Amino acid sequence: MIFRLYNTMSKQIEPLSPADPGRVTFYTCGPTVYDDAHIGNFRSFLAADLLRRWIESPLCTLESADGVPHAGPRRVVHVMNITDVGHMTDDDQADGGGQDKMVAAAQRLLDAKKSGKLPADAGIDPHDPFAVAAFYRDRFLEDARALGLKVAEEARDDPSLMPRATDHIAGMARVIRRLLDDGAAYTAGSPGSRAVYFSVEHADRYGKLSGNTLDKIRGGAGGRVDDATQQEKRHPADFLLWKEDRTHTMRWPSPVDDWDEGYPGWHIECTAMALDRLVPGGLDAARDRHAQIDLHSGGEDNIFPHHECEIAQSCAFTGAPRFARHWFHPRFLMVDGKKMSKSKGTFHTPRDLIAKGIDPAAIRLELIKTHYRANADFSMQGLKDSAKRIEQWRYLARNLMLQAKEGFVEGEADQRLVILAIQDVLSKSNSSKNAITAISDDLKLSSLFAMVDTLANAVRGNPALIVSSVAHTIPTEPMDNSDALESFNSQEQLPSKTMAALHLIDNILGVIFRPLPKSQDTGIAVYLPGATPSDEVESLLTERHDARKSKDFARSDAIRDQLAAMGYAVKDVAGGKVEVAPKPN
Ligand SMILES: [Zn+2]
Repeated sequence: MIFRLYNTMSKQIEPLSPADPGRVTFYTCGPTVYDDAHIGNFRSFLAADLLRRWIESPLCTLESADGVPHAGPRRVVHVMNITDVGHMTDDDQADGGGQDKMVAAAQRLLDAKKSGKLPADAGIDPHDPFAVAAFYRDRFLEDARALGLKVAEEARDDPSLMPRATDHIAGMARVIRRLLDDGAAYTAGSPGSRAVYFSVEHADRYGKLSGNTLDKIRGGAGGRVDDATQQEKRHPADFLLWKEDRTHTMRWPSPVDDWDEGYPGWHIECTAMALDRLVPGGLDAARDRHAQIDLHSGGEDNIFPHHECEIAQSCAFTGAPRFARHWFHPRFLMVDGKKMSKSKGTFHTPRDLIAKGIDPAAIRLELIKTHYRANADFSMQGLKDSAKRIEQWRYLARNLMLQAKEGFVEGEADQRLVILAIQDVLSKSNSSKNAITAISDDLKLSSLFAMVDTLANAVRGNPALIVSSVAHTIPTEPMDNSDALESFNSQEQLPSKTMAALHLIDNILGVIFRPLPKSQDTGIAVYLPGATPSDEVESLLTERHDARKSKDFARSDAIRDQLAAMGYAVKDVAGGKVEVAPKPN
């Protein structure tokens, strides 16, 4: 079964045909780190993660560019950037007018510090935009790893897989100089506030991805961009590559000789980072070889103008007819059937949900369970159901592990029952074949879910099977795809075989076999996942302990309130211990 995927460019479901099916290159437009990412952002990132995991799976067969089937497993080089400069508040405009988002974030942090919402020991200077970006970047990585985003995990060993725009300014400047030399870009404005614009009339396919035409954009541009900016451009849809501005908070040497310092536009960073990181040999090789990348993803809102602009400037730079062979755009997420809204309390971040004690795996499942091209509807009830479902799947895994365990004597009768139950499920339908067929058809997961549910129900519904003291825990490390495949092919015992199959499935879903979040015991308190110990908190807790000992409850309560303002919820638990949890905002 050849894997076919909807391509936003062709508007068709078609085989994903990479240049080298053994090494697929994949670029995802990552977060702008001026705030915590919300569940809508993560729905898109997780859909890309799911796609990447599926392409890596031994169960996925690709068709090479010359039509030859290629069986997995294979390598996916997945790069996801971190935007820490050049992103304006008015991003629906190609030339990105408005205030720099990093400047807006600095102001928000300043306000948060004043109101006590931000921990006093956050150690971040809101006046330093680089520090603001680093602060939110670290939080994003924490959230992404909790939700099982593979690229964030890999970036521990190879940070270049999650490149920061500010580390690639030189590459952007090189691309911009080339575009100027080739006549695809031009300069405008007066000294001190000059700009480099990309000329869209130079890109004959501009608008193909989003279905826009230059005439439509020309007609619709009036009033969206300020007159001065609009007048210096040759075409209303021309977009900013570089702005000379020595007063900007983040600035670098300009790509044009004799210009003052300035900053890049938003779109150019992805061209520089994708080609540098995914094409062996980097930017020069990309130009020499007219390179294309295989797969590119981003949120639905990235299609226009961001991806349209990326395509125009990338193709002008490489001389290739395409920037990416395949474009992948998951739909928006709704909450309780409506757009997420802060005022209605339906604006959630994974960070808040995890702080409420929700299993990150349940958040992940809830965000991937709906087909990526349907508008998913997130609800707290759905989240609960997902958590329950994962519990059942883990119960299945525990049983399989128990039954596969060597020397498990007392379970002989149980073992037979499990085997019968699994055989029953597998023989009643071609469930595994159906699941692979469905996921190979534009990444449909429902048959895969149904198969695991049926297995889990067969085991759960069997009263003879009660997992008690023998095996409460399941592996927290997933089995590598190749090992799982080998085990699946070589094992004769049905429980071991099914366990290997479950690993193959969960390497795609990423919800069953996961490292459990750990608590930290400092001796003074037990910090639950998400709450980080610090000297200040520790000394407050010691003071609170002493206050309680001397029955000074007013003081003890005051310290509790102070900790709450710093983002820590304190609870006294059995054995005279104190438990510290992150306090939801
Ligand atoms: Zn991008």
